[in-house]
Amino acid sequence: MAAFQELALDPRLLRSVQHLGFTTPTEIQQEAIPAVMQGKDLIVSSRTGSGKTLAYLLPMMQRLLRSKPLSAQDPRAVILAPTRELAQQIYAQLRLFVANTRLTPAFIVGGENFNDQEKILKRQPDIIVATPGRLADHLEHKSFFLQGLEMLILDEADRMLDLGFMPQLNAIHKQASHRLRQTLMFSATLDHAEVNELALSLLKDPYRVAVGAGYDPHQDIVQRCYFADNLSHKEALLKHFLQTEPIKQLILFTATREDTERLAALVQQAGFAAVGLNGKLTQAQRNSVMQAFASHKYQVLVTTDVASRGLDLLQVSHVINFDLPKHPEEYVHRIGRTGRAGQQGQAYSLVGPKDWPAFVAIEQFLRRPLAMAEVEGLKARFDGTQIKAGEQSVGKAASAKKPIKKSKAKDTKTPPDGDSLLPKKRRQFFEGGDDGALPLKKKQK
Ligand code: AMP
Repeated sequence: MAAFQELALDPRLLRSVQHLGFTTPTEIQQEAIPAVMQGKDLIVSSRTGSGKTLAYLLPMMQRLLRSKPLSAQDPRAVILAPTRELAQQIYAQLRLFVANTRLTPAFIVGGENFNDQEKILKRQPDIIVATPGRLADHLEHKSFFLQGLEMLILDEADRMLDLGFMPQLNAIHKQASHRLRQTLMFSATLDHAEVNELALSLLKDPYRVAVGAGYDPHQDIVQRCYFADNLSHKEALLKHFLQTEPIKQLILFTATREDTERLAALVQQAGFAAVGLNGKLTQAQRNSVMQAFASHKYQVLVTTDVASRGLDLLQVSHVINFDLPKHPEEYVHRIGRTGRAGQQGQAYSLVGPKDWPAFVAIEQFLRRPLAMAEVEGLKARFDGTQIKAGEQSVGKAASAKKPIKKSKAKDTKTPPDGDSLLPKKRRQFFEGGDDGALPLKKKQK
């Protein structure tokens, strides 16, 4: 693969890249950077952790450094992200690149003081990193204008649309709708009707890049699922992982706010410094929790989905889904919190009866079976069919439809071949193609 030097980037940018210790562009950077430098609009489906942030920051900076501003007061580039956490992450990377230039950045997200942000916008920043809701509020308030916008970048567009930001995205687009604007759109999946609709209205004859679509297997992440019968069984499995796994840092995902607190206490009892993060906290509290986790004050972060994207924490060796997420795309993003930048990560998911529909949806989304595993002494009776009332759950032999007979195969980098390990009905489903619905309770003939 070519080196960064061959991308004809401004020397200031190359110095920053060098400072980060990166020598070779990732696949997505290799594809996207030259296309953007030629002035093309772009639509990219990219896996989390693929290096997509630099894939747009570098050519964006190149254009801003090398061309005259279209307007003296309006921002020249706007980067939109679905969550405050992701926006923060992008902003941190952006600051490295603007450090040795005259370009000024601004950070405008919800949950922070509106008037303070208005003052920031009046100072006419060149580049804004924002969440769409708050930025649209400022547009409505006429805190700033977008007629001079040169680059509009949408990171995780699918997620922004899932969160209902279509009207705000359209409002921002309309304010900056002129033929010199270049638009870059990133999405975990392009298999999303609203993403395509948005792309049609925002992008002009876009160049398409699909490097490792959202559901491609991630070679650096070992994914394993464990059947669990009920809450106490899940807790027993969690304790087992805490006792036996070489955890550097762990993100534990749960379904509810209440569970973040309860499980943080449970993890603490197991001897780990743990902290809970959920949407109930104020933005300032969330920031300080994230900073404390990033600086290793805590080894375990217990969270709902609020933190599942945009965290770039290289020490996260493990992700555990105590509960499965409702949206299958979220699974990809959660497990993408580990295995960052070539490091090996482990992603374990606990699958109880309540998680089963989500599990089925995830496998359909991935178009591939997930590897099941068992912990000796903690086998579940639940195996994708329902447990009969009155049956004991934990510690008994698995029922006739056995999950994979598999002890801890810690060192496997590539997930084991699902076919041979799957219960029959799931195997039939995947062999039969990817467009049907997986029968949940019915037996397959
Ligand atoms: P992203 O997909 O933008 O969230 O990036 C994932 C991780 O890869 C981050 O830790 C980046 O700092 C890192 N990264 C980005 N580009 C490169 C590169 N060319 N070489 C090595 N690591 C990179």
